[in-house]
Amino acid sequence: MNETVLSIRKLTAGYGGAPVLFDVDLEVRAGEIVALVGSNGAGKTTLLRAVSRVLRAEGGIAFNGEDILPLPPEKVFSRGLVQVPEGRQLFGAMTVEENLRMGAFRRTDKRTLKESFEHVYGLFPILEERRRGLAGNLSGGEQQMCAMGRALMAEPKLLLIDEMSLGLAPVIVDQLLDVLTDIRSRGVTVLLVEQDVFAAFSVADRGYVMETGRITREGPVSELGDDPAVREAYLGA
Ligand code: ATP
Repeated sequence: MNETVLSIRKLTAGYGGAPVLFDVDLEVRAGEIVALVGSNGAGKTTLLRAVSRVLRAEGGIAFNGEDILPLPPEKVFSRGLVQVPEGRQLFGAMTVEENLRMGAFRRTDKRTLKESFEHVYGLFPILEERRRGLAGNLSGGEQQMCAMGRALMAEPKLLLIDEMSLGLAPVIVDQLLDVLTDIRSRGVTVLLVEQDVFAAFSVADRGYVMETGRITREGPVSELGDDPAVREAYLGA
């Protein structure tokens, strides 16, 4: 079995004293795509924010064996734990290339930087075509590509992706799912938060179901997808 990249133990977090997450346990192993699914407001984004350390939390979060709970977000980022936030959060008044460059703001080696641009433009040729255009003028799908490209420019070891498919046409979602499989084959591990359970389970190895701040089910997606309760609640069966 592969080594554990992210280990979350008994994690509790919330906003202004109101708890949202209760004793969450979750694990991501090297080379996996893990899906975290659940309905609106279940606490999935809150979990990602706690892991990125932008939100106070209690319990255990270890990244590659290191306790990251005491670390500030920028240290967590520089260790290779990089988030693609919900809503893309691009700088609309900057060009596509400038947005991508932001993901690499800590990197100085021009040669490897050039390779990263080539990698991102190879995955998303449309971004190369639009590299001098403003990010604010991109379509929703292109913006998601740009947000994912920006994260890849940071050379992540673990990508946390929040609602990748939200508001996008199925054909675009399929393209993005293919990219996830591709980057995983290049050694990037992925934790994918999705409301589109069907899409998430089509690429993930294992899944977790979150309901009102608690993990209620977990397992290989092949098993979860056969679970009658999961099928009824999330797969429209
Ligand atoms: P969605 O996909 O709709 O974002 P989610 O599963 O990611 O759902 P969260 O965004 O983590 O859910 O929200 C979990 C709970 O925390 C919700 O009840 C929400 O209202 C609350 N919440 C989220 N952000 C804040 C905030 N900044 N301040 C106070 N409460 C918040």
